[in-house]
Amino acid sequence: MTRVVVVGSANLDLGVAVPHLPAPGETVLGDDVAARPGGKGSNQAVAARRLGVETRFFAAIGDDRFGDDVRAALAAEGVPLDHLTTVEGVATGVALIVVDPEGENTIVVAPGANARLADGALAGLPAALDQGTVLVLQLEIPPATCLAAARHGRAAGARVLLNAAPLPDPVPADMTVLLREVDVLVVNEGEALRLSGSTADWPTLAAALRGLGPDAVVITLGAQGAVHADATGTATHPAYPVDAVDTTGAGDSFVGALAASLAEGLPLAEAVRRGCAAGALATTRMGAQSALPTRPELDSFQN
Ligand code: ATP
Repeated sequence: MTRVVVVGSANLDLGVAVPHLPAPGETVLGDDVAARPGGKGSNQAVAARRLGVETRFFAAIGDDRFGDDVRAALAAEGVPLDHLTTVEGVATGVALIVVDPEGENTIVVAPGANARLADGALAGLPAALDQGTVLVLQLEIPPATCLAAARHGRAAGARVLLNAAPLPDPVPADMTVLLREVDVLVVNEGEALRLSGSTADWPTLAAALRGLGPDAVVITLGAQGAVHADATGTATHPAYPVDAVDTTGAGDSFVGALAASLAEGLPLAEAVRRGCAAGALATTRMGAQSALPTRPELDSFQN
């Protein structure tokens, strides 16, 4: 079965453009608020789905209006809602984002129902996994749930992909336990430095991070592309040159495309290449989820 299964966060992002970021105690008048679906789990599930791969999404939302909005957005993308848990009396996760004219932002995340995604919500997970599945995890849900999901993945023979973001600072001690259940680790530059505790060059760091457990490690380097390491060696893929207008969501676009490509059986280097293409494409449009490329866009971009 070719399939991507994502266990992670679903938020509603509330964004306002402001003339300048507010100082402590200051009130700033901004533009109209824009409400968009977000959260790393939701973004990565939609990223994989848009690339034409069967995608399942395990997440928790609240029993509020924002939860209805998250549901509707996922349904519109063709992501099945069967594994979406509604937590009674709890708010849907919200990210409050203000952006100034230079693109600098401040973000406050209220995790809401994401913090209540418990083991019980994973009851249907084993049945959704097999050896052809790529199971995608991030760190916006409770660590215990993330670990339980990874263990289900291992037990089913699925490939467990962890995007270790956002990585708490300092790195929690139990991260070493989770990393031992991971097959493919994806981190950005800052996360790679903190996880390894080293400032060596990126290929050396990627190879060193394999020592924590994952068979394959990918470090995304923004406009420098990505470096990857597995048992066959280490290589760098340069970024695709594009006119970037908004880099929000590039990382989620990369992870979704990497997961979809691995689920289709592509080797790591080719999956990273497609991840770089999907990340680059996402930077050419405003927004996070709205900027994710479709399969035809990705295929024609690379040819
Ligand atoms: P974010 O949290 O903003 O989504 P991230 O730090 O997780 O980003 P990045 O490393 O910035 O992830 O981006 C992921 C991938 O997207 C990169 O490996 C690269 O291939 C592509 N990418 C990002 N920014 C650019 C850019 N300016 N030009 C071309 N490709 C880019």
